[in-house]
Amino acid sequence: MTVIVTGASRGIGRAIADRLHSLGYEVLGISLRDPVDLRYESPDYPIEKADISDINSLNEIYEKVKNTKITGLVNSAGVFENLPFLFFPYNNYKKIIDVNLIGAMNMCSVFLKLMDKEVHTPIVNISSIAAHYPNHSTAYTASKMGLEGFTKSLAKDLSHTKIRPNCICPGFIKTDMTKANLVFSDSNTLKEYVSSQPIGIPLTVEHVADVVELLFNEKSNCVGGQSIQIG
Ligand code: NAD
Repeated sequence: MTVIVTGASRGIGRAIADRLHSLGYEVLGISLRDPVDLRYESPDYPIEKADISDINSLNEIYEKVKNTKITGLVNSAGVFENLPFLFFPYNNYKKIIDVNLIGAMNMCSVFLKLMDKEVHTPIVNISSIAAHYPNHSTAYTASKMGLEGFTKSLAKDLSHTKIRPNCICPGFIKTDMTKANLVFSDSNTLKEYVSSQPIGIPLTVEHVADVVELLFNEKSNCVGGQSIQIG
C-alpha cells in the first residue's frame, strides 16, 4: 500500500506522512526542500525533491514509480503570502496559485494513472479555513477556493471508481508557514482567534493527521467531494 504525501519535509505534511507510515503504509514524500529538515529525525520513508508546480519534475518521479500501485495521495505542500492586493506583485500571487492549486492538480494528473480504482483510495487536499472565512489573504484564499472546487468536481469525475477526493480545511496551526502571524503574537490574540472557530480548540498538526487517518479508513468511502473544516 503505497501513498504519496506532498510537503512531507515539515509541518502538517510531515505529521501526516509520519502518521500514515505508522499505520503501515509505504510512504513516498515529495517536498521542495532538502529531504531532511535538521529539526526532524530522518524519516524511515523516502522524500523526493520536486517542485509540484513544475509538471516535468513530477513526471521524473512518475518514471521511478510507474510500476507501483498508489492507494492514497495527500496534497499538503503549499505556500502563503499576505499582502494588500494593490501591492501584490504578479509573480508573488501567481506563485501561490501555481503551487497551491496547479501543484495539487499536477499531482492528481500525473499520479491518478497509478491509482487503484477498485479499492478505497483517498485523495486528501489540504485547503484552509481561509477558503470559508476569507480575510485579507486574496491570492491564498483564491488558491484554496480553487482547490476545493477542483476537489468537488474531481470527486464527481471519479465517482464510478473507489478513488475519493476530499479537502480538509484547518484553522491556524503554528508551523514555519504561520509562526510569524499576528495570531501567535500573544496568548490573548490566539485565544480570541481560537474561540471564533466552530469548535474553538487550539489546533496542532496531529489534529490534521487524525482527520486524514479517518479519510484513509475505507468506511469513509461514501464521503467524496467534501470540505471538512477542523478547529
Ligand atoms: P510549511 O511551510 O511548514 O510546509 C510546507 C511544505 O510544502 C514544505 O514541506 C515545503 O517544502 C512544501 N512545498 C512548498 N512549496 C512547494 C513546491 N513548490 N513543491 C513541493 N513542495 C513544496 O506549511 P504547513 O503549515 O505545514 O502547511 C501545509 C499545508 O497546510 C499548506 O497547504 C497550507 O496552505 C495548509 N494550511 C496550513 C495552515 C496553518 O495554519 N499552518 C492552516 C490551514 C491550511
